[in-house]
Amino acid sequence: MAKVVVIGGGWSGCAAALTARKAGAEVTVLERTDLLLGLGNVGGIMRNNGRFTAAEEIKLLGAPELIEITDQAARHKDVDFPGHRHASLYDVNLVEPMVRRKLESMGIELRFETRAVDVKMDGSRIKGLLTADEEWVEADVFIETTGSTGPMGNCLRYGNGCSMCILRCPTYGPRISISRRAGVEDLLGQRGDDSYGAMSGSCKLSKGSLAPEIVECLEKEGVAVLPVPGEDVSFEKLGYKVCQQYALREFAENVVLLDTGYVKLMTSYYPLEKLRKIKGLENARYADPYSGGRGNSIRYLSMAPRDNGMKVEGVKNLLCAGEKSGLFVGHTEAIVTGSLAGHNSARLFLGMPLLNLPRSLAGGDIIAYANEMLGVPEGLKNRYTFSGGKYFEHMLKQGLYSTDRQAIEERVEKIGLRGIFEVKLL
Ligand SMILES: Cc1cc2nc3c(=O)[nH]c(=O)nc-3n(C[C@H](O)[C@H](O)[C@H](O)COP(=O)(O)OP(=O)(O)OC[C@H]3O[C@@H](n4cnc5c(N)ncnc54)[C@H](O)[C@@H]3O)c2cc1C
Repeated sequence: MAKVVVIGGGWSGCAAALTARKAGAEVTVLERTDLLLGLGNVGGIMRNNGRFTAAEEIKLLGAPELIEITDQAARHKDVDFPGHRHASLYDVNLVEPMVRRKLESMGIELRFETRAVDVKMDGSRIKGLLTADEEWVEADVFIETTGSTGPMGNCLRYGNGCSMCILRCPTYGPRISISRRAGVEDLLGQRGDDSYGAMSGSCKLSKGSLAPEIVECLEKEGVAVLPVPGEDVSFEKLGYKVCQQYALREFAENVVLLDTGYVKLMTSYYPLEKLRKIKGLENARYADPYSGGRGNSIRYLSMAPRDNGMKVEGVKNLLCAGEKSGLFVGHTEAIVTGSLAGHNSARLFLGMPLLNLPRSLAGGDIIAYANEMLGVPEGLKNRYTFSGGKYFEHMLKQGLYSTDRQAIEERVEKIGLRGIFEVKLL
């Protein structure tokens, strides 16, 4: 049986593990922390704008599990907030154990607190991985889904210092770029001013620190939009946001809060003294990651060049997905790219041509579009998501955005790929 090792248990790694398993591989996920879902543990927003279309597509392609779980764990469905429609908000406190149980029930081996630190090559193939505990892990095919952050020093070098974010590098050790260890140079994302990396566009507030009427509104509606005092409105800050889908005027003029179990504050770098000037937020405090007032989680410092079947260029048996595979932002984006990489791991093992999703699907289009954009000067300064910014504009122009389930179904039927990720190849 083909042995597939997935390095990194974020959304993309979980998606890859599921489809590799369904294709018939023996699958192990190595995760350096004690939790699956990586950055997904501070996220929560699904199905906003084009993510709705992509979520429905991936279900029809035969990888419904993770979308079904986020739907089941949703605290709110069909929520509108500035610039975003029909979002659902999963409970970040509930979703991780649900995913863990799903993967285990499918016979996927999960190895926590297991950090891959190096590779051993046999020509241009990875022969095996070395873990921080000096264990040797062999496989036929590897899938790198380690995200795009760097080692701890990068948070200081390119950002405002380590904020002990959800990735908890001081505890679990830094992320390692496996593709780089395999001899492939990393691609680095840039910001508008040419500096490297980008910080998150959102952070968490502790619910107990907010006024009861705001908590009540959040629990009922899922969203609260609170005007910012005129003297504190800063449009300049919008330019720093990694999540360009939230770099909208309304996000400077208002504080937008979403209920994800915690309270998701859709603004990065909001100083606590200013936040506490807003009615109802007089006692507000940040929850993990704690440094919401200054920004956190420097990312997009390590992407691998890849083809549209998610294979890393230059390494015969390495695929990648999620943020590692391009300047993608989002859980849905991680699930789409991860599902494809997992399925293709079986094809790669069998020497079959890799599946490329056609551009008539939103999933196929974003994968190809993000690759094309790496070849244009501004491309490294953008981030790609179904939910807004440059890619959603493109998606609209191509007529790919739809909330009509039947139309999406017809699209998938037409290209003959319905259920492709359910096909057992091995
Ligand atoms: C604060 C914040 C809020 C966000 N909110 C949303 C949102 O609401 N909705 C949305 O769609 N997107 C959101 N995003 C973006 C989204 O979370 C990410 O784009 C997506 O989850 C990335 O998934 P990934 O699997 O590519 O990487 P990651 O989530 O970074 O996962 C990588 C995993 O690999 C592990 N790992 C790394 N190196 C190693 C190694 N050497 N060995 C073993 N394991 C390793 C890490 O511990 C981690 O678990 C948010 C991001 C942040 C930072």
